[in-house]
Amino acid sequence: MISKNILRLIKNFAEQNGFEAGAADAQPLELNAEPAPFCSRDIKKRADPRTHLPGAKSVIVIAAPPPEADFYPPPVEKPGRHFAYISSLAYLPDYHIKIKSLLEALAQKIKTAADFNYVTFVDGGFLPERTLAVKAGIAHIAKSGMAFSNKYGPDCRLGIMVTDLELECGGPPAKKNICGKCRICADACKGSNLLPEACVSYITQKKGVLSEPDMEAMKKNVYGCDNCVRICSLNETAREIKHVNLEKLLAMSETEYGEWFGHTAAAWRGRGVMLRNAIIAAGNKKSAPLAHLIAPHAQSPDPGVSAAAAYALKKIN
Ligand code: SF4
Ligand code: SF4
Repeated sequence: MISKNILRLIKNFAEQNGFEAGAADAQPLELNAEPAPFCSRDIKKRADPRTHLPGAKSVIVIAAPPPEADFYPPPVEKPGRHFAYISSLAYLPDYHIKIKSLLEALAQKIKTAADFNYVTFVDGGFLPERTLAVKAGIAHIAKSGMAFSNKYGPDCRLGIMVTDLELECGGPPAKKNICGKCRICADACKGSNLLPEACVSYITQKKGVLSEPDMEAMKKNVYGCDNCVRICSLNETAREIKHVNLEKLLAMSETEYGEWFGHTAAAWRGRGVMLRNAIIAAGNKKSAPLAHLIAPHAQSPDPGVSAAAAYALKKIN
């Protein structure tokens, strides 16, 4: 039997704890066969919540603002001569940890009222969080492809809990096109035209050797991009862009990488990717004074790093 009381309890708990929550049914979703970047190729696992929990009946979706930091990693400093850009993914505390703990706290709260089974995902690469957030009635998908939470706008992070509870499904929000005629983000993202595979944020998170067009497209971005979120006319809490010191990144040891980025959502890619990207950004900036820090990386055993060094030195010389 569908329980309205449990959904009320979920929404109240979310409200009291600084996040937003809704529920969708656990019926299979209609998705493209081709997965989005970093998502599973298994269409059944992406489309059908029931493959993750036998007897699943609902999916609770939550949205929350990213965690704030009272300090930033040492390479994030005031802009200077040898600086490039870095997104909040690489300087704020890892949002996966915050969202996962909110989901767990919510599950424990529900357990005080009902016995149930559940499994949680945060950016798990299986079920599409944005599609489910729309189905649960807590978000819209904007022209930029980002999910706009009803409460927190585009600067939100999503998490999902597949459950065997029967909950009332929120249903898509009434207003479908929240962007109207605005195309600020599309105009600002000429390079990738808002396409996921050409997105700079995606490119900077790819592993290994990047193609020359990918390296060109990165411009001065070391990790992530966020431009479409930052400039969005509906974003009332737009973050400033942060600057990262390329001199420090080009000479970064494995220990420093752990100290500077180990607590961020960038940590899953490792030092090689961050170093490779810093080299590419220095090349795209044509930073000749940094050539002596780039040159040793041309001999790196990591092919992504050595290819980036060859590219950067060619740009500088
Ligand atoms: S993150 Fe940057 S590259 Fe990606 S869609 Fe937004 S503006 Fe375009
Ligand atoms: S910038 Fe404009 S078009 Fe892009 S997501 Fe924001 S409101 Fe929509």
